Amino acid sequence: MATKQIPYKIYLSEEEMPKAWYNVKAHMKTQHPPFIDPATQRPCTASGLAPVFCDECIEQELNERDEHIPIPQGILDFYRMFRPSPLVRAYCLEGLLGTPAQIYYKFEGNNTSGSHKLNSAAAQAYYAKKQGLKSITTETGAGQWGTALAMAAAYYGLQLDVYMVKVSAEQKPYRREVIRTYGANVIPSPSDTTNAGRKILSEFPGTGGSLGCAISEAVEKALTSDSCRYVLGSVLDHVLLHQSVIGLESRTALEKYGVQPDTVIGCVGGGSNFGGLIAPYMGDKLDGKNDIDFIGVEPASCPSLTRGKFVYDFCDSAQITPLAKMYTLGCGFMPSPNHAGGLRYHGMSPIVSQLYHDGYLRAVSVEQSKVFEAAVMFARCEGILPAPESAHAIRVAVDEALRCKKEGKKKVILFGLTGTGYFDLAAYKQYNDGTMTDTVPTDADLERGFATIPDCPVNEGLL
Ligand SMILES: *Cc1c(COP(=O)(O)O)cnc(C)c1O
Repeated sequence: MATKQIPYKIYLSEEEMPKAWYNVKAHMKTQHPPFIDPATQRPCTASGLAPVFCDECIEQELNERDEHIPIPQGILDFYRMFRPSPLVRAYCLEGLLGTPAQIYYKFEGNNTSGSHKLNSAAAQAYYAKKQGLKSITTETGAGQWGTALAMAAAYYGLQLDVYMVKVSAEQKPYRREVIRTYGANVIPSPSDTTNAGRKILSEFPGTGGSLGCAISEAVEKALTSDSCRYVLGSVLDHVLLHQSVIGLESRTALEKYGVQPDTVIGCVGGGSNFGGLIAPYMGDKLDGKNDIDFIGVEPASCPSLTRGKFVYDFCDSAQITPLAKMYTLGCGFMPSPNHAGGLRYHGMSPIVSQLYHDGYLRAVSVEQSKVFEAAVMFARCEGILPAPESAHAIRVAVDEALRCKKEGKKKVILFGLTGTGYFDLAAYKQYNDGTMTDTVPTDADLERGFATIPDCPVNEGLL
């Protein structure tokens, strides 16, 4: 129970910021199965991954042993520009809902990229520079990741090529301009700069592109360029590791006031912010030290946890990445085009997938009109205009707080407010105009996606 009056915003001092990331895998009794090289059907080795990813990131990716991994001073110096991030007691939202629950949110949108993605962008750019590389490459869909990485590349002095899903580049010209302002090169994908892009352009002329296609182009670029590596903004274990600063800061801030959450909620696209937010609390749960209810929230139009299959699948639609054992809708799954609310990735972090499979967390799916209803409610009472992705977590935090009201329970709810929605105003416009609709894939739609899961030896008996 809280003993001191809790302020609206709990800030940590720079000294209280974490000096090491938290590796939840050190506490997992069942590790997720290894990545598989589709060519050999054998587990990927560090040397096999080295042409694609930075060495240090590979080491972190494969580390199941160390609970704490020190954050190098060069990254801490950059973190200090935008961290620690505030933990906010949502007094106004609590008042509006009339709930006996306490609601807290960790706000990661206080930097120009407008999201938590800068936490991993900073780390990955630092390691690329330390390795002596000249350039890095990546893809971006909505644009937050591309912006975050452009900021980090500028800070550490690296060249960056961002393959941006063509429809996003067209629909979000301002986002593209922010990325260019930080000195990165933006290439609308599919493009004619790679074999993967040319192939898709010839098969589907006029396509608006997809995240999977952009990944394929960025990976190919890294593989075919000297002194260049590929950098990914979610899904992988080392990205979740970097995002553990969110959970560590939250825990330190709440502990100052003697507060322990009962429920921790995050939106899930690839699973990185959620995995980072829950990491230290999940480590304790795995050790039997708490019984926190962890809830990952996904869009009903892209329901990888709640309706997907736990199998090996490609991480990209062009099927060139390693296979990961994860909850997936199939690498060829495309969410309905009227889905505006972000979080449209077909798969899910292998760590989050394994923890879900083993029953340590739950997942909930929500429809986008309900998500925007919560977003608008939150903006009007708490002031911050949330990213549509973040609003998935808001929706479920509100639902949980209303449940507490009905049941007369004083729970402590913590959720991740991953970012701001300034570049998502087309989606807000749809909502405000009353033209937003919900599309939930039918079982037949999902079957078409599942049909794109590779029918390979590691999946035999699983499909
Ligand atoms: C990218 C993004 C997400 C989803 O990515 P995860 O890897 O699932 O965290 C959520 N919120 C915002 C604001 C984002 O930019």
